[in-house]
Amino acid sequence: MRDARATKSISGPTPRDILFDQIGSFLDKQGLSPDPAHYAFAFAVLSAPDRPLARAVAELTEDGVRLSRQDIERLGGQVVDGPPLSRPRTADQAVDETVDTAMALVVQTQQQVDGFAQMMRTMRDETRGFGRDLEKSAAAITQMAEIDEITRITTTMIGRIRDSEVRLAEATAEADALRAKLAEARESARRDMLTGLPNRRAFEEAFAERDPEAGPYCLAVCDIDRFKRVNDLHGHGVGDRVLTAIGQAMAAECAPHLVVRHGGEEFAVLLSGVGLADAAGLLDSVRATVAAKRFRNRDTDTPLGIVTFSAGITAIQGDETADAAFSRADRLLYVAKEQGRDQICAG
Ligand code: GH3
Ligand code: MG
Ligand code: MG
Repeated sequence: MRDARATKSISGPTPRDILFDQIGSFLDKQGLSPDPAHYAFAFAVLSAPDRPLARAVAELTEDGVRLSRQDIERLGGQVVDGPPLSRPRTADQAVDETVDTAMALVVQTQQQVDGFAQMMRTMRDETRGFGRDLEKSAAAITQMAEIDEITRITTTMIGRIRDSEVRLAEATAEADALRAKLAEARESARRDMLTGLPNRRAFEEAFAERDPEAGPYCLAVCDIDRFKRVNDLHGHGVGDRVLTAIGQAMAAECAPHLVVRHGGEEFAVLLSGVGLADAAGLLDSVRATVAAKRFRNRDTDTPLGIVTFSAGITAIQGDETADAAFSRADRLLYVAKEQGRDQICAG
């Protein structure tokens, strides 16, 4: 008799299996319960990826944003009562979740500090007991008490010391593990998961912590040109890889200045110790390096063509806010786009 499972594993998943998996993953990502009405909507979206419905959904869910109830209803779908739909999940919410993790660790740290304090109190009490035992022991020796009594007291003392040592070693190991977790949480709250670059939070901190001695400072806002086209032509996965490659190239070329992924296909560069003209020169050479790259789709080995970026760059005034400097650089970026892209506009 043929083994159905073996046959399946040899022939691989059928288009139906794939569609079924996609529907499951769609419902999961969109926070929809497995209700027939939700299945029907997911089926309509996923079974015809070239239809306007699928394209509208792809547009609305760019950057991992969830569809809202209104979105689904507007697109002809139905949302069935049950657990309410989660609100659209934005990049900021992803950051908030990381902050929640950090907060949980802070609470854990507090609990551990409390635990330490309790342990120190116990150890202090035991030390007092230990002192009393020592006195008794000394008294026993002076009075030439039974040797058994001295042995008993000494054995108890040694036992207590060992217990305390074990507890201290455990608490120290716990504290080390917690310290490592805290450092990791702090680090990941400031890092963009896709590109591995620092994120907007890291930028805002670095901006706020500028050292007047290390000035002057400049800010560049860089945006990949016609990036939507990369996604449309080659898929989001390829887009992700191109975005990562450009971000990393920028960071390498701009080092030691700070390059962060500010959001979407936009990067911010905080340059220190350079005036506007030099900063613009540096950014222009980064632009030329990126424009000279020839990206290829590593799965199909087809060329992706030239991918460029445009940037607006401005000198940061002594006491201005990050928002003020950012809007000025953003307006200059807009000018660079208007003037034809693949260029730096300084002001
Ligand atoms: P412009 O030159 O005017 O900037 O054109 P553009 O196509 O780059 O700009 P637009 O704002 O129209 O589109 C930005 C695109 O960037 C759309 C969005 O899907 C894509 N994008 C943003 N973040 C990501 C991401 O994390 N991964 C991928 N693959 N694409 C992203
Ligand atoms: Mg763009
Ligand atoms: Mg953009």
